[in-house]
Amino acid sequence: MNNRISSRSGSPVYPDSYYAATAAEAPGDPALAGDMTADVCIVGGGMTGLSAALELSLQGFSVVLLDAEAMAWGASGRAGGQLIVGYGATPQAMEQLMGREDAREAFQISVDALQLVRDRISEYRIDCDLVAGQAELAARPEHMDEFRETCELLAGEYNYSLQMLDREQLREQLDSPVYHGAWFDPRGGHLHPLNYAQGLARAAREAGAQLFSATRVLDIQQGSSPRVVTSGGRVHCRQVVVAANAYLANLLPGIEKRILPVGSYICATRPLGAQAGELIRNNMAVADSKHLTSYYRMSADGRLLFGGRTGLTQKQPANLQQVMRARIKHIFPQLPDPQFDYCWGGNIAVTMNRMPDIGRLGNNLYYAHGFSGHGILMANMAGKLMAQAIAGEAGRFDLFGRIRHRNYPGGTYLRKPGLALAMLYFALRDLTG
Ligand SMILES: Cc1cc2nc3c(=O)[nH]c(=O)nc-3n(C[C@H](O)[C@H](O)[C@H](O)COP(=O)(O)OP(=O)(O)OC[C@H]3O[C@@H](n4cnc5c(N)ncnc54)[C@H](O)[C@@H]3O)c2cc1C
Repeated sequence: MNNRISSRSGSPVYPDSYYAATAAEAPGDPALAGDMTADVCIVGGGMTGLSAALELSLQGFSVVLLDAEAMAWGASGRAGGQLIVGYGATPQAMEQLMGREDAREAFQISVDALQLVRDRISEYRIDCDLVAGQAELAARPEHMDEFRETCELLAGEYNYSLQMLDREQLREQLDSPVYHGAWFDPRGGHLHPLNYAQGLARAAREAGAQLFSATRVLDIQQGSSPRVVTSGGRVHCRQVVVAANAYLANLLPGIEKRILPVGSYICATRPLGAQAGELIRNNMAVADSKHLTSYYRMSADGRLLFGGRTGLTQKQPANLQQVMRARIKHIFPQLPDPQFDYCWGGNIAVTMNRMPDIGRLGNNLYYAHGFSGHGILMANMAGKLMAQAIAGEAGRFDLFGRIRHRNYPGGTYLRKPGLALAMLYFALRDLTG
């Protein structure tokens, strides 16, 4: 249950999780030693950085990618794996923020992101347990009205149809008494995020990208010929891509205040045998509509992978198993005492407006982060958009540049006490409606 990389053998390993235990490969990329030259240097080897590395290499750029730990060591290798079309912001909120035309285009980009991930899985033959079907569950009766309104808007204005399920229709698929209905997206789904990201890394290597692990970037010296300074050497390049997301810390002074790293946790039960097929009959991935969401799905070997936010800080709570056990027991009373084989956590980067922050500093430093819990699809797309912008095709990239992002109040140090207050507020709202 640790979040830190182990250096027992001197080489990076993934944090203990169901994904690490069922990973296709162990981390194997070398650390950078000495100086290198490349067209583009990418900081961060999660889905954003790997996606950019693949696209840029395919377009003929020389690419060096550096990760402080290992490929997919961060959120990309720990996520719930849910493929959710759209963003943390509702379409209604997007329209207020960007106007309907840009909101429509942004929504279509997330639909295209789903296709991008599916295409990569088939083109690069990535074995990652892909399953179709994803739903949001109404935790309170009034949430069904909000769902209906969103479904109508999406069908009428965004050319995207979701299915509304009433309480009984939902119960036929999900054997829980606690929900009031759902919207269901047959096109969404779930996958094993670490194995998907490892497949992406393999594709990027085969396309020519040079990937380095155990190489922390300490400084980025901007200018017409940027230098990326690491623990083991320097990379001289023409363009820099920063894809460090919730693990960015102070690498981009000023920009980091736009995102808040929030801890999210998952526990994997022991395999449930015949009971596995009974809990979620259509095998969809689900998330509930609470402010402090619970999200869950079945793994390929019949475990319940149950995730959510639990506490008031990024620190993993000491009673994590107890909290998750109580939530599962409430949702599935037929599982009164679930036993866990793995529990782990990671950081999600959340923006104030719940839209990703994708932009450029000067004319040669690109960054993308703040996917606000919707990064499996959009991190892949953001990597592609940055690669396209570097190649001179910036239309869709610039659309995100037009979104106004605000800093979290309190700056670097006071953002965390602010988070504690916000979590307390949301926990109370979940209780009181
Ligand atoms: C528990 C959990 C559950 C989630 N569930 C879902 C889900 O079901 N669906 C969904 O859509 N999204 C989900 N997300 C969010 C999603 O995983 C992320 O949005 C997405 O993976 C972000 O990818 P990334 O490449 O931008 O960042 P990351 O995968 O976090 O990668 C960032 C990388 O940057 C590296 N790095 C940081 N600083 C430096 C430095 N100075 N030098 C070098 N390298 C550095 C890190 O080591 C890390 O490997 C979840 C996240 C978590 C934590």
